[in-house]
Amino acid sequence: MQVEELIDYAIFMIDVDGTIVSWNAGVGTVLGYQREDFIGQPFAMIFTPEDRANGEHRTESLTAKCEGRSSDMRWHLRKDGSRVYIDGALNAIREEDGRLIGFSKVMKDATAQHEAEDALRKSEEQLQRSNKELAEFAHVVSHDLQAPLRTIRSYVQLLAKRYQGRLDQTADEFISFILEGSEKMDELIRGLLHYAEFGQDGELVSVPLDEVIEAVSTTLKTVIEETEAEISCGELPTVRANPIQIQQVFQNLIGNALKYKSAVRPRIRIECMRDDGNWICSVADNGIGIAAEYYDRIFLPLKRLHGDEIAGTGLGLAVCKKIVERSGGRISVESKVGEGSKFRFTLPVA
Ligand code: ADP
Repeated sequence: MQVEELIDYAIFMIDVDGTIVSWNAGVGTVLGYQREDFIGQPFAMIFTPEDRANGEHRTESLTAKCEGRSSDMRWHLRKDGSRVYIDGALNAIREEDGRLIGFSKVMKDATAQHEAEDALRKSEEQLQRSNKELAEFAHVVSHDLQAPLRTIRSYVQLLAKRYQGRLDQTADEFISFILEGSEKMDELIRGLLHYAEFGQDGELVSVPLDEVIEAVSTTLKTVIEETEAEISCGELPTVRANPIQIQQVFQNLIGNALKYKSAVRPRIRIECMRDDGNWICSVADNGIGIAAEYYDRIFLPLKRLHGDEIAGTGLGLAVCKKIVERSGGRISVESKVGEGSKFRFTLPVA
């Protein structure tokens, strides 16, 4: 195909004085000019007034002259005055003896791509802003809730200390219910605060997962020994993550596998598989399992499938979800009631 016929790219020549000396059909498509109103005109006319005032057309020519080529992405002017975002390159043309005789310019309309990127950037900024606002809101609310709760707790503790055994049995029971309730509320508020603040600014580095599992096993040592749990791992890679946050994910999942165990000895299997640009990690157990209708619900903050017979705040999986999704991944569960559960999540390759 001839250069003149290429219609997606504007391709033309400029002489050393900056005058346009050739035209192809792409100039019509990209910039809206016809041959007669393009050739012979100054190259500067396709620059926006701001860029022209800054001398960008001269800088571009100078860079191409000194370095052989100048490429850039910027807004340009079409003949009708509208703007088009251009991915362009200016190449110096020289005679065999090195003498500069002009430049060739290639321009491609990248407006759609630029606008899509711009929209994506704006929505990411918006998301970050609303996440930050939400975290600030949760922080303030949790702090404000803690103050009156502290008053309730200290007075009911005082009541228990002074009057337990001196009133009747029902009164003693009421006091211990208030104590338990306020302690639970304190735990929930602290959990919410942790959830709101967690993962806000974790730096991502290379983290070997075998070290993470070792640290988690040390933290959960007592319960692992008590339950006589058997934890086994496939080959564990190094992933790109925040070390504290990734440890929290494994700790919550392994901790749950131990907590929601069935009558048999807990067996926990940790595996990682490569999938395109990610690792898919899984933590599988032989515990009580989860019915399919709760697969989504358990990842929501404060949602639990159990009452106080098993301790917890319902925030562990919400924290896991938040951490995994912050690094662009997903987390899900598959399970069979009475047989066990398998939690799967993606992590970026180191
Ligand atoms: P918590 O354990 O504090 O209740 P989580 O957010 O960690 O909160 O878990 C939410 C709910 O999901 C739990 O209350 C439990 O009912 C269920 N769950 C989590 N992990 C498991 C598991 N490995 N086996 C069975 N049920 C689980």
